[in-house]
Amino acid sequence: MTQTATPPDTDEAARREQSWVFFDGEFRRYRDARIGLLTQGLNYGTGCFEGLRAYWSEERRQLYGLWFPEHYQRLHRNTRTLQMRVPHSVPELCDITHELLRRNECRETTYIRPLSFKSAEAIGFRLHDIPDSFAIITAPMGDYVPTGGMRCMVSSWRRIDDSMAPPRTKCTGIYINSALAKSEALQAGFDEAVMLTAAGNVCEGTGENIFVIRGGVVSTPARSDNILEGITRQGIIHLFREELGLDVEERSIGRSELYAADEVFMCGTGAQVAPVTEIDRRTVGDGEPGPLTLRIQGLYQRIVTGGDPKYAEWLRPIW
Ligand code: PMP
Repeated sequence: MTQTATPPDTDEAARREQSWVFFDGEFRRYRDARIGLLTQGLNYGTGCFEGLRAYWSEERRQLYGLWFPEHYQRLHRNTRTLQMRVPHSVPELCDITHELLRRNECRETTYIRPLSFKSAEAIGFRLHDIPDSFAIITAPMGDYVPTGGMRCMVSSWRRIDDSMAPPRTKCTGIYINSALAKSEALQAGFDEAVMLTAAGNVCEGTGENIFVIRGGVVSTPARSDNILEGITRQGIIHLFREELGLDVEERSIGRSELYAADEVFMCGTGAQVAPVTEIDRRTVGDGEPGPLTLRIQGLYQRIVTGGDPKYAEWLRPIW
């Protein structure tokens, strides 16, 4: 057989097999949590996921879970839209995640993946009257995208419209839209894609929300422009208002505003705060991460690693 794929990192794979996951009400080893090939969620994209982070602080020897309740509230809302049911309350989900991180002895920055999916093994799809499975998996995670200045392209793929499938739900199947744009960008030599709405307004990255700054005015696409309503986005809006005394306009943003911007950055659980220094081969501002972006990035990093007691309520210490 010809081997074409990159060989897996065997240490990482072995560690994953051994790790604890939470699956259908029980803590199990990853290797023992298996699903069948006909599972509807796998075949039809009828799933709904979340992505959380817990940040390790070497200085404080502590792991801080970030915005756990907010993520699980969003999961509850989204699964309701998709006619799925997560059989645990928000506080229970926070406690289960806490225990999982402890069982896995996480002492490094970790990504947490809750996943709800239609678990019937049968041909055919629908949302109603189908059993759901629910899992939480953890994995070590560093930078998901470059955080020192990304080169982006505007994707030829438009962001899915709410009239086609609900973009705010983190529905697994909808991520084909992001995957198409991400591959297009990476294969063309860029770091990330900017997706526009069907109407041509700036929407977001493939897994990040976007902020545009011009003349000291901070803007981010409105919720009605088919964005995923990011929890990081909400936190960043708060930091602009409370820490930098700057209001944030939530509005429709035209494509050429990207080229005219002084600063652009993306944000998300994976991306954290990631400056964009080039879009469609035009430098953003002077081509370096901008001053407001760097201040927000610095504030964010300090807060999520437990360095600012004022924001202690955003965090859940695990150890
Ligand atoms: N947009 C998309 C499409 C995403 O997948 C994500 C990651 N969940 C985001 C934006 C950022 O959302 P959050 O800050 O909640 O991680």
